[in-house]
Amino acid sequence: MGEKPIKHNKFRIFRRILPNWDHDLHVHSNWSQDNLNGPSLADYIPLAERFKIHIGFADHFEFAFTNVKDPKCNKCRLNQGSVDNYLEEIDKIKEIYPFISSGLEFNFFPTRKEKLQEFTDDYRDQFDFFIGGVHEVEELHSIIIKNNLNSLIHKYGSFNAVLDKFFKIEVELIKSQIFDCIAHPDVIYRFITEGERNNHPEYAFDERILELGTLCEKTRTIMEVNLSGYRFPWNNPFPNLKYLHHLIAQGVSFVVGSDSHSLEDFTNNVLNIRKINQIIKGEYLFTKKF
Ligand SMILES: [Zn+2]
Ligand SMILES: [Zn+2]
Repeated sequence: MGEKPIKHNKFRIFRRILPNWDHDLHVHSNWSQDNLNGPSLADYIPLAERFKIHIGFADHFEFAFTNVKDPKCNKCRLNQGSVDNYLEEIDKIKEIYPFISSGLEFNFFPTRKEKLQEFTDDYRDQFDFFIGGVHEVEELHSIIIKNNLNSLIHKYGSFNAVLDKFFKIEVELIKSQIFDCIAHPDVIYRFITEGERNNHPEYAFDERILELGTLCEKTRTIMEVNLSGYRFPWNNPFPNLKYLHHLIAQGVSFVVGSDSHSLEDFTNNVLNIRKINQIIKGEYLFTKKF
């Protein structure tokens, strides 16, 4: 790979997290376009306080937005024009509550690389972290919507062909070094059921995840353990627990993200947030085994 100098310190993501607190650095408020009727930033504060879980907001940022249901709506709520208002709201909260961090989730696609680089360079100092995720294998063809994924499988001829394309874009995301963290690295598996995993054990242990881990380590990118998979047929985190020990042994750094879009998502995930926090801190096996 082309060696790019490391420009930023990925560990800045941990700066605000108090040592005895667990964290969840992937929480969506009503600033996210897919969650306009969801909770406000402030609505989550009592939960963070009650469960002693540091919350990092990672609302969806988009330069433009294409809405199939409403073609007139081409602006995402959180865009270049409104990002300062988002920051203002979140910074007011951060002044009072030390257990809140500010972040954004970006939708990575290779054609948007330069734009993303420019925007994140401008705003890096004003946010605590930036997450990048692959949600499309073709521009504006989301793989996290079942019908879209099915038509891509039809177009490419097989799920495996779509998988290949997906992982190529993931590699580009990490190599770009635009983000502190890669979100849900194998989210493309979200609709795969346990039965399908039994027929295709390679889905449950896709070695490409380990390769992504190596690349994360080289580029000092953090990998997220994303819990949204529990809300889908996959019923496992992204990446699933089978890889986690290998990746930790490889030296990959992790954060936990529930990808909550509602207060219920968050409270339903508390036990898993704790468990994964323990695993990535190396405490889980010890306490469970002995
Ligand atoms: Zn995402
Ligand atoms: Zn998300």
